[in-house]
Amino acid sequence: MTQVPEKSMAERGGEPLTSENPRAASSWDPYAVEAWGDGFFVVGPRGTVMVRPDRKPSREIDLLAVVSELKGRGYATPVLLHFRDVLETTLRDIRGAFDRAISDHGYQGGYAGVYPIKVNQQRTVVEDVSRIGADLGFGLEVGSKPELLAVLAITADQPDRLIVCNGFKEDRYVEFAMLAAKLGRTIIPVVENLEELGLVLDHAERIGVRPAIGIRVNLDTQGVGRWAGSSGMRAKFGLTFSETLRAVEMLGERGALDRLHMLHCHMGSQMHDIRQLTRGVGELARIYSELVHLGVGITYLDVGGGLGIDYDGSQTNFPFSRNYSLEEYAGSIVHRIGSICDEAGVRHPTIVTESGRAMVAQQSVLVFDVMGANSFEPHVLPASTEDLAGPEGAEPPRPLVDLFDAWTRLEPETLLECWHDAENARSEAVDTFSLGYMSLHHRAEVERIFWTLALKTRELASGLEQIPEELEALDELLTDIYFCNLSVFQSLPDCWAIDQVFPIMPIHRLDERPTRRATLADLTCDSDGKVDRFIDREDVRAWLPLHELREGEPYLLAAFLVGAYQETLGDLHNLFGDTHVAHIRIGEDGRWWIEEIVAGDSVSDVLGYMQYEPATLSRSLRSECEASVREGLMTADESRDLLAAYESGLSGYTYLERD
Ligand code: PLP
Repeated sequence: MTQVPEKSMAERGGEPLTSENPRAASSWDPYAVEAWGDGFFVVGPRGTVMVRPDRKPSREIDLLAVVSELKGRGYATPVLLHFRDVLETTLRDIRGAFDRAISDHGYQGGYAGVYPIKVNQQRTVVEDVSRIGADLGFGLEVGSKPELLAVLAITADQPDRLIVCNGFKEDRYVEFAMLAAKLGRTIIPVVENLEELGLVLDHAERIGVRPAIGIRVNLDTQGVGRWAGSSGMRAKFGLTFSETLRAVEMLGERGALDRLHMLHCHMGSQMHDIRQLTRGVGELARIYSELVHLGVGITYLDVGGGLGIDYDGSQTNFPFSRNYSLEEYAGSIVHRIGSICDEAGVRHPTIVTESGRAMVAQQSVLVFDVMGANSFEPHVLPASTEDLAGPEGAEPPRPLVDLFDAWTRLEPETLLECWHDAENARSEAVDTFSLGYMSLHHRAEVERIFWTLALKTRELASGLEQIPEELEALDELLTDIYFCNLSVFQSLPDCWAIDQVFPIMPIHRLDERPTRRATLADLTCDSDGKVDRFIDREDVRAWLPLHELREGEPYLLAAFLVGAYQETLGDLHNLFGDTHVAHIRIGEDGRWWIEEIVAGDSVSDVLGYMQYEPATLSRSLRSECEASVREGLMTADESRDLLAAYESGLSGYTYLERD
């Protein structure tokens, strides 16, 4: 790993990319902050990223200042920042969009949002959503028994709070839901199959409650994108059309037809195409109106989650973008349901959405530091073929001479031809070396010439009017690798698992043009522990523009919009644990503060998860040290120092601690 030397620091240049300088920002915005930032994230006048929790310049938080405050309290990067005030704005935006759509379309029913806690189950996040959502008439959705038990406690003494229970339900899950109904809670178990319906009816009779029940229907309309399989003919969830009719019969037979309160569907997460969404909603509304005609008193129509996040800011049909606005989303749902109900002459139900991603993604930012870089730098090459001779005066082998010849002929007119010759010569050099006909000295010379030639080829190609496709690939070949203090598996699992792209950028030095192109490598010993797909408003880019590292100066990057699904899906690969989490608030006067810091896992914590007992580990090492002292391999002082270092390592952070 080579630290990039001070002498080749980024040239300062270009107008600063700042919120106060929008012209500069729009003409030169390598990170497209304005596009995906949604007004929450902007670049400030000092070239740092500012968070504006209500999109107003009067209340903003400098991310670099937050990191510095945390460091002062002993919490180094990587750190996950939660901005509760951003969360509040997104929840209010969703409520506002539906209120406006309801009023614009003359819709007669109401709206309720429920937060599916699986999207981010951290206690503080769920409590925040619950607290903010109380004013907005929002409820909570659970998809398992543990989630239900958590939510029952969080919403204690709030009987009106809507709780929707999805997921596979065995006996105990259903029993808890029925007991909650007995407590007077507004809880709706949504049955996914006919057995579950039987269970709900049995437990309700036994406990003596008349619960509200929901059924999840499996729409014919298939979702789009990565989670398209959540609905459609082969989906694993929900009742088919004939099962839905059978469920209605079952309810009638058990005298519980009036208990069917909710019709539910979920077409998949991150719906990026509004057309598919409205089609599915239309299908759901049609089923609803038919059931109402059959005498079923459904009050809630739950369209599930799926409201997308525009991760790359392109506003397109790209899987990690969305081709609609929040206003269009709310308007389409309200209009579609209203018009189908009107045609069928049935009342307008209360619309429920289970948007999880769109509620919590924007409130979290993961900040991490770069530890060093591997970069390609041009070498000073020999002046002539004679200088290629090895130290022992050996004749340079043919592939080395050919490669050097390609280097001396390199100019804009011969670019592609020389590049082909260089690739051939390099490949022959590899074989020649393997067969024992080339010295290590000459092999090293091949390496130096080849990469210097590649850099020069890319430089000359960038000046061509039409860059040949083969030479375009050089960008990827020549990217630097920036080594980052994070675990992709722990903090950005979707980057690895589903090739998700997140906006990633430096949080400072944004008044300097980035001059390097890099991919990111994490701390794990796993070749998948990398980020090499970055947002690009037209496609996905294989590199990120970054600044040169400066000796002794931290370089901080952040991944944005990471509040949905990443925290709980993360795993302990190589025993890198949870990062620190800091909750940041801002007051009306624009002053911000750190509300709470949840310390990340210590080494002892993660070892404990794997059934290692830290006390036993220390004991083993202590006895080995004593034996070494007895045998004279170390002194008592050295043994004490070693044990102290071991103990402090156990209580330390799992990530690199640089100070
Ligand atoms: N509701 C159900 C039933 C789900 O399975 C999911 C997630 O897959 C959601 C809601 C949340 O979806 P999203 O986060 O895309 O809004």
